[in-house]
Amino acid sequence: MSSQNVFDDALTRIKAIGMDAGVSSEVVESLLYPRALMQASLPVRMDNGALHYFTGYRCQYNNVLGPTKGGIRYHPQVNPEEVQALGLWMTIKCALLGIPFGGAKGGVSVQPKELSPMELERLSRAYVRAMADFIGPDIDIPAPDVYTNARIMGWMMDEFEAINRLRAPAVITGKPVHLGGSLGRDEATGRGAYLCIRELAAKQGWQAENTRVAVQGFGNAAYHVARLLQADGFKIVAISDSQGGVYSKQGFDIESLWQEKQSSRKMRAVYCEQSVCQLIEHSEISNEELLALDVDVLIPAALEGVIHNENADSIRARTIIEVANGPIQSQAEARLEARDIQILPDVLVNAGGVTVSYFEWVQNRAGYLWSLEEVRSKLENQMKTAFARVWQVAESEKRSLRSAAYTVAMRRIGEAVMSHGTRE
Ligand code: GLU
Repeated sequence: MSSQNVFDDALTRIKAIGMDAGVSSEVVESLLYPRALMQASLPVRMDNGALHYFTGYRCQYNNVLGPTKGGIRYHPQVNPEEVQALGLWMTIKCALLGIPFGGAKGGVSVQPKELSPMELERLSRAYVRAMADFIGPDIDIPAPDVYTNARIMGWMMDEFEAINRLRAPAVITGKPVHLGGSLGRDEATGRGAYLCIRELAAKQGWQAENTRVAVQGFGNAAYHVARLLQADGFKIVAISDSQGGVYSKQGFDIESLWQEKQSSRKMRAVYCEQSVCQLIEHSEISNEELLALDVDVLIPAALEGVIHNENADSIRARTIIEVANGPIQSQAEARLEARDIQILPDVLVNAGGVTVSYFEWVQNRAGYLWSLEEVRSKLENQMKTAFARVWQVAESEKRSLRSAAYTVAMRRIGEAVMSHGTRE
């Protein structure tokens, strides 16, 4: 999908669902325009002495419900349309979860795998120097996203504090725990998705042992959701990373695959015991083949737009769980729905990440340090409540789960817009 289309496609959904969600056209319109979009060139001294300019973005999409919130992505595909689409989805996600944040997203157009750790640190600090007046604990709060992590958040917080000569841990979430990060933030996106799947499984009477799952992507969120599902007895029969994937009818041991990927940076179909890993019987598949597998549940957990008009008809899964943001284009969604394929939408499924980010922000501001059990139980509460609300609206108003999720979010944003009164 072309980059322009990502944002257009996101707006198409807002317009279509907004029209029949019972919110005023003014509210729908308020969601069609990002509040602000910052683009900056980031000069970075490379290890070989050369100065290289990267382009960084931050989109504060909507702040009606609170300071804007959302991750920063490092990926060659990052562009203004993508950050705007992702900022819009963050707006819907926070509203749906009842978190007092608006939506934002940022990114740098870069291939992070080609940078040394020192170059990565200089890039991250350059990003914050460019955005320092644009972010803040009550303005806009970044977090990790694709190819960014706790270490990068730590550098960013440090740079922000140095610029402003103050302590400001709440300026960014997803930090290392010893720098004010929250316990449980690392696993939160995957755990949130797992909790949603558990709710759905209970509604539909799935038997874990008889449920075959394919996971497209093997980043942080994919790892945690896959490992938690496997622990419950689900069979993870296929998993892939950006290079390709593996398939085995018996199912994989996720922890072994993950350990191997961490040490060799390669996805290998292995089973490990006490650090001794053995290759297990499997076939190698491409990402496209993985998406078309005959499985019960398909979990796209990488990038947006992977299920589109050209491959929608080849999908054989009965249920799609969107761990990635925006993995299904809207035209493809209509084709899937026509074939009764159920879709659990991203704005609900992957909201565990921003939910625990909110917990981290609360702890930073109040000086609390919650235990892992406390974080997990609060997350479970929040996810179950959101799932129940979406399910109830879907049933009572005969909507798809995505339409129900957007409807709940838009109605909340609508109430806030009305309560604000007129400011112009
Ligand atoms: N990047 C994550 C997302 O897309 C988390 C955002 C956050 O924690 O603010 O939901």
